[in-house]
Amino acid sequence: MIIVMKAGAPDAELQSVLRTIEELGYTPHVIHGTQRNVIGAVGDERGKARLRSLEALPGVESVVPILQPFKLASREFKPTKTVVRFRDVEIGGDRLPVIAGPCSVESEDQILETAKVVKEAGATILRGGAFKPRTSPYAFQGLGEEAREETGLAIVTEVMKPEDVDLVAGTADMLQIGARNMQNFALLKRVGEVKKPVLLKRGISSTIQEFLMAAEYILSEGNYDVVLCERGIRTFETATRFTMDLNAIPVIQKLSHLPIIVDPSHGTGHWEYVAALAKAGIACGADGLMIEVHMRPEIAFSDGVQSLKPETFRQLMRDIAPFAQAAGRRM
Ligand code: PEP
Ligand code: MN
Repeated sequence: MIIVMKAGAPDAELQSVLRTIEELGYTPHVIHGTQRNVIGAVGDERGKARLRSLEALPGVESVVPILQPFKLASREFKPTKTVVRFRDVEIGGDRLPVIAGPCSVESEDQILETAKVVKEAGATILRGGAFKPRTSPYAFQGLGEEAREETGLAIVTEVMKPEDVDLVAGTADMLQIGARNMQNFALLKRVGEVKKPVLLKRGISSTIQEFLMAAEYILSEGNYDVVLCERGIRTFETATRFTMDLNAIPVIQKLSHLPIIVDPSHGTGHWEYVAALAKAGIACGADGLMIEVHMRPEIAFSDGVQSLKPETFRQLMRDIAPFAQAAGRRM
């Protein structure tokens, strides 16, 4: 249910509504607006009719049901688009951030060299898997910090187990949930408890509704800084590794206020197709890109075939600028 407070209702009235929601066994989530406050009350769907009685409390203007199965992630709850901000980065605003870097962190030299290359080409966030084959999450702690110090880039890395969340959150600026973990609810809840933005990748065989329900798990724990990532889904087509579901971008932007970026590297699985789908993603309204870049893709530990060489990445960054502009964004 959404509880809309009257414009200018005093804080004491808001507090009393919040207490009553809790007494009824629901969890309140407040959006503080400039005109009025709005509360989302989430909990057992079956008993939600009881929340209608909140309309009798002073300061309450209306109580309306949220029709979608995802509540806090829905546009019904929050009509205005969410902008996720951390360090110098904004995702969901005018600028289109580009997340770039290798699939796996392989060595100190590799990550530092790649960081410099992608930074110079215009990327704002460095990616790199620390829990990939032959990489150590413990070594990544030092490497991540060094790369950030040297380049000023923010860092995103994947976390795969609930017990690793604190370790990864200690270094990374943003936590990535991989496609294969999109429905790992224990992991989603755990990242919902930390104060770091989360990049949630769409499951390989997930519907848009399941994707938004996964985001809902994170939001419902109180972490509202969630960025969605369309990374391709499995279809009958085998000419590419996955099929980029570009439909998902406008559909999700209609249903949800959360920003959504695209990952054409995993989405196509081949470096030659990355630029075309990056441009298409921007044209469809994506809020950013994730691109895998490797100094020497031919010897990469993982995902070499889909990784761009530095020169190809620089070219991509030049080529997408007019598409960004046409879509009303800046690089
Ligand atoms: C990755 O980003 O390297 C990755 C493993 O992506 P996904 O979870 O989308 O397969
Ligand atoms: Mn990869």
